[in-house]
Amino acid sequence: MNVESAPTPCYIIDMGLLESNLKRLDIVQQATDCKIILALKGYAAFSTFPLISKYLSGTTASSVNEALLGKHEFGGEVHVYAPAYSKADIESIAPIAHHISFNSLSQFHQYRDLVRALNPHTKLGLRINPEYSEVEVELYDPCAKNSRLGATASTLNNADLNGISGLHFHTLCEQGAGPLARTLKVVEDKFGRYFDKLSWINFGGGHHITRSDYDIDLLIETIRSFKERFDLEVYLEPGEAIALNTGILVTEVLDIVDNGMEIAILDTSATAHMPDVLEMPYRPFIVNGYLPTERPYNYRLGGLTCLAGDIIGDYSFDEALKIGDKLIFEDMAHYTMVKNNTFNGVSLPSIALWHPSSEQLEIVRQFGYEDYRNRLS
Ligand SMILES: *Cc1c(COP(=O)(O)O)cnc(C)c1O
Repeated sequence: MNVESAPTPCYIIDMGLLESNLKRLDIVQQATDCKIILALKGYAAFSTFPLISKYLSGTTASSVNEALLGKHEFGGEVHVYAPAYSKADIESIAPIAHHISFNSLSQFHQYRDLVRALNPHTKLGLRINPEYSEVEVELYDPCAKNSRLGATASTLNNADLNGISGLHFHTLCEQGAGPLARTLKVVEDKFGRYFDKLSWINFGGGHHITRSDYDIDLLIETIRSFKERFDLEVYLEPGEAIALNTGILVTEVLDIVDNGMEIAILDTSATAHMPDVLEMPYRPFIVNGYLPTERPYNYRLGGLTCLAGDIIGDYSFDEALKIGDKLIFEDMAHYTMVKNNTFNGVSLPSIALWHPSSEQLEIVRQFGYEDYRNRLS
C-alpha cells in the first residue's frame, strides 16, 4: 500500500482486507443460515457500505442517528436497540425499523402500542441479561453486578410479553466461540421456556469471528445445533469483527523533545483520534515499532492536544525517528472514527480507501473548521 500520498493524519481502510473479513463472515452465514448484521456503534464508515451490504443483510443501531445511517447508507434490515428510548426516539425509529429491541419490560410496555400504530411490521424484541459473565473488564461487561443492560430472568416471571417476537442478548467483548457456546447454554436454561412463542433471537456482538485464531467451526456447530433444537431465526451483530485489522492510521512526527527521555509529538492524538487507547486501555501496534528497549531507539509517543495524558505509549525502533517521518498505527478502522472528537479543536483524521485491484488510494473525506464549528453554537 502506498501511504505517501495520504494527507496525515489519515485513516486508510483496505477494501481487500475488508472483503476478506466479509467472506469469512459469509462462511458462517452460508453454513448456518444465520444473519450477520453490522453494529454501527463499532464501525460506520459508510463509503464502504456498498461492499459490506453485498455480504451482510443489514445494520444494527443504538440511536436514532445510527438507525438513519443504516436506513439511508446501507439499506436492508434496520435493527435498533438502546438502553432507553424517548417517545421522540420511537417516533423516528419505528417507521424505518425492522426490529426494535427494548432494554426492559417497562420500556416495552410503554411503547408497544405506539410502535404498532406507527409501523405494524416492526418486530419487537426484549434484551435479556443472562447474569453470566465471560468478560473480565467491568467497563465492558454487560452482566456485571447491578448492570442496567437487559431484563433478568426473574423479572420475566408472569410478565405480559404479548407482542414480543424475539430475544436479544449481548454479553461478549472481543471473544471466541467458546464463551458464546457457554453463554448460550445459560440463556437456554434461563429463557428457553419462552422460545416456542418466538420467531427470532439475536446473539449480540463481541464475536471476534475474523481474528485468525477464532474457532469458526465451533461457532458454526453452536449455531447449527441451536437451530436444530429451536425454530428461531438467529442474528449475530458484531461491529469490531467486520473491520478488524482492515485499517491503519497514518501519522507524522511533528517534533521531538527531551525530558528525561525522547518524546515524539505526532499530528494525531490518543484522546481525540484513538480514544480506546486511553479508555480500554490498550497499546496499539505500530508498523516497525517495538516494545520499549527491544530496539535501540526509544521514544514516548504523544499527541497534539494539551491534555498531559495524551500519550499513546512508549515504543522502540531500529532507527532514530526524525521530524517528518510517517508512523503507521495498525488496526485503526473500528472504534476510532465512530468515537472521535474535536477536543482542543484538533481536526479529525481524513478517511481514505485503498483499492488493491487498481492500487488506488481514494481520499473520501477530509475535515476542517466547519466540522469543528458545526458541533458548537
Ligand atoms: C457494542 C455492541 C455490539 C457490537 O459489539 P462488537 O464488540 O463491536 O462486536 C452489538 N450489539 C450491542 C447491543 C452492542 O452494545
